[in-house]
Amino acid sequence: MDCLFCRIVSGEIPATLVRETDTTLAFRDIMPKAVSHILVIPKEHYADVATLAQADAKLASDVLETVAIVAEHEGLVADGFRVIFNTGEYAGQEVSHVHAHVLGGEPLGPMLAT
Ligand code: 5GP
Ligand code: ZN
Repeated sequence: MDCLFCRIVSGEIPATLVRETDTTLAFRDIMPKAVSHILVIPKEHYADVATLAQADAKLASDVLETVAIVAEHEGLVADGFRVIFNTGEYAGQEVSHVHAHVLGGEPLGPMLAT
């Protein structure tokens, strides 16, 4: 399977890593949409968050734990931050390997473009 984020997990494609656990990886988004923009993924391939949550609740929880730790280390907790799982076509999901966008470091504006 030709998956960009699996290739980042294997080290084939470089990324700026922020945190690594046995089951998850956090790295900076290549085109940041906020001062802090980090992607958190499970190392194992699942297409989207709904598939992951139903297939492996523990792994989904590991992803959320890494989200929380990364937000803390980035200093995002006091002022707040946003976590987005784009899922499928209408949400504009471009990479079919589940990823949490962790965004913060500045006011983020409305939740959706209007
Ligand atoms: P999606 O639209 O699927 O929710 O988000 C995919 C994200 O992956 C985008 O924010 C995009 O900037 C990011 N991205 C795409 N290619 C790469 C890459 O090669 N490296 C990194 N670090 N991020 C990438
Ligand atoms: Zn993958």
